[in-house]
Amino acid sequence: MSNEYPDLIRLCIGGERRTGGDGQTLPVENPATGEVIGRVAAATAGDTEAAAQSSARGFREWSATPAFRRYGLMRDAARLLRERAETVARLITLEQGKPLREARAEVALASDLIEWFAEEARRLYGRVIPSRQEGVTQTVMPHPVGPTAAFTPWNFPINQAVRKVSAALAAGCSIVLKGPEETPASCAELVQAFHDAGVPVGVVNLLYGNPADISSALIAHPAIRKISFTGSTAVGKHLASLAGRHMKRATMELGGHSPVIVTRDADVAAVIELIAAAKFRNAGQVCVSPTRFIVHEDIAADFTEAFVAKARALTLGSGLDEATGMGPLVNEKRRAAVRSIVADALDRGARLASGGAPVDGPGYFFEPTVLVDVPVSARIMNEEPFGPVAPIVTFAEIEEAVAETNRLDYGLAAYAFARDPQDLARLRSGVEAGMLTINHLGLSHPELPFGGIKDSGIGSEGGEEALEAYTYPRLVTERAIA
Ligand code: NAD
Repeated sequence: MSNEYPDLIRLCIGGERRTGGDGQTLPVENPATGEVIGRVAAATAGDTEAAAQSSARGFREWSATPAFRRYGLMRDAARLLRERAETVARLITLEQGKPLREARAEVALASDLIEWFAEEARRLYGRVIPSRQEGVTQTVMPHPVGPTAAFTPWNFPINQAVRKVSAALAAGCSIVLKGPEETPASCAELVQAFHDAGVPVGVVNLLYGNPADISSALIAHPAIRKISFTGSTAVGKHLASLAGRHMKRATMELGGHSPVIVTRDADVAAVIELIAAAKFRNAGQVCVSPTRFIVHEDIAADFTEAFVAKARALTLGSGLDEATGMGPLVNEKRRAAVRSIVADALDRGARLASGGAPVDGPGYFFEPTVLVDVPVSARIMNEEPFGPVAPIVTFAEIEEAVAETNRLDYGLAAYAFARDPQDLARLRSGVEAGMLTINHLGLSHPELPFGGIKDSGIGSEGGEEALEAYTYPRLVTERAIA
C-alpha cells in the first residue's frame, strides 16, 4: 500500500471516527496502476441509523448557533483546508487519477466555496411584510430546513461534497454525507477540516458503504428533511422518487451532454485552446464536460485538425507526474463504458480522427479521442460519454445548431463561440440549458448558480439559490395586545 495513502478510511458519526459495526471494508484502487492502495469502512444499517440520529442532535445545536459564529467556524474550516491543500490534492490524485494541478485547483475551489457560503450565512435576511390590519406585524425568516442526507460521486471527490456541506451549514442545517467509496480519503479530509475548525459534534457525519442501502434508509428516515444528490440521471430519478414518496425536499445535480456551438466567424485557434483543455480535463469525467461539438461546416475541417493536434499532444500518465496532461479513467467499469460507446459510433459510420482505444499496460487509461461524421443515432450523441471522447458534427444555419443543442433531454451546461450579433442573440434566447457560457469558459465560481433543467436535475448548487434550497420561509404574523 502507498504510504502516502491511509490504510483505512473510517466513517465519522457524532464526531467519532470509526469502522463499520460489522468490520466490513471495501478496497480503494489507484486508477493509474490498478493497485489497491487502501480500504474504506462500510456502514451497517445500525451505523446509518446512528448517523441520522447524530444529525438530529447536531441540528438542534447548529440551528440555534448564531449566524456570525457559524460564519467564523466555516471560515476556519476553509483556512484549514487551504493549509492542507497539498496533502489533500495528492490524495485526490492517488484515488481518482486526475493530474495534480487539477487536484490542486479542486482544493482551492473547495476552500473558496466554503468561504463564500460562510459569508452568505451572515446575509440570510428575512423581510417584514406590511399588514392589512392595525397592530399586526408579519415577518418572514429563512429557517434551516433540517438534517440533510447528501450523496456525492467520485469525479470531484471534495468539490461535489463541499457544495452540499457548505450550503447546508451556512443555512443552519446538519448533514449526513454518503461520500464516494471510490475516492474516500480526500472527502474524509474535507469533513475533518470542519471538525478541526470546531463545528460541533453531529453537524457533519460521514458514511461510506452500499449506496442503495444507505440512501433508502436515510431518505425514509424521519429525522432527515432534505436530500441532495450528484450523479447519474438514472440514480437521480430513483432517489427523487424516493424523496417524493417521503415528501422530502430534493436537489438533484445529474448528468449532462453539453453542446458546444462554434459559428463560422469564431476564432478557431482560440476556441480550440480553451475547449480541448476543457474536454480532456479529468479525462472527460465532468458533468459539465463539453460533449458534442456542433461546428459550422465552413470551419469544421480546421477545427477538427486543431482538435486532433491537441489530443495527440496530450501526455498520459500518473497524475502525480507534473508532466501528465491527462490521467486515467476512474476504474475499469468506466473504461469499458467509454470503449463501448466509441465502438457503437464507429459501427454506425462515424470516422475516427484520433485515438479510440484503451491504452495497454496498468491503469485505466483511454486515448484522447476525436470522432467525425458522427450520425445523430450514435449512442455518443445521446448518452453522456463521461470520458475523453469528442464527437464533431456540422451545421449550416444557426437554427440547425440551436435545434441540435435542444434535441436531448439533458439541459446542464452549453457553450457557444460566436461574433455575429444576430447569432449571439439567437443563442442567448434559444439555447435551453441551466448554464450558458459564450466566448469563454466560466461556470463554477461559488457566487454563480450551478444546476440544470430537464433530465439534468432540479435546483442549484451555487449562488444564493443554493442556500435557498436549505431553508424554508417561516412566516410569523402577530397582533400586539395591550
Ligand atoms: P452510477 O450510476 O453507478 O453511480 C453514479 C453515482 O451514484 C455514484 O457516486 C454512486 O455511488 C451513486 N449511486 C448509485 N446508486 C445509488 C443509490 N441507489 N443511492 C445513492 N447513490 C447511488 O455510475 P458510475 O459508473 O459511478 O458513474 C458513471 C455515470 O454517473 C456517468 O455516466 C455520469 O452520468 C454519472 N456521474 C455524474 C456525475 C456528475 O457530476 N453529475 C458524477 C459522477 C457520475
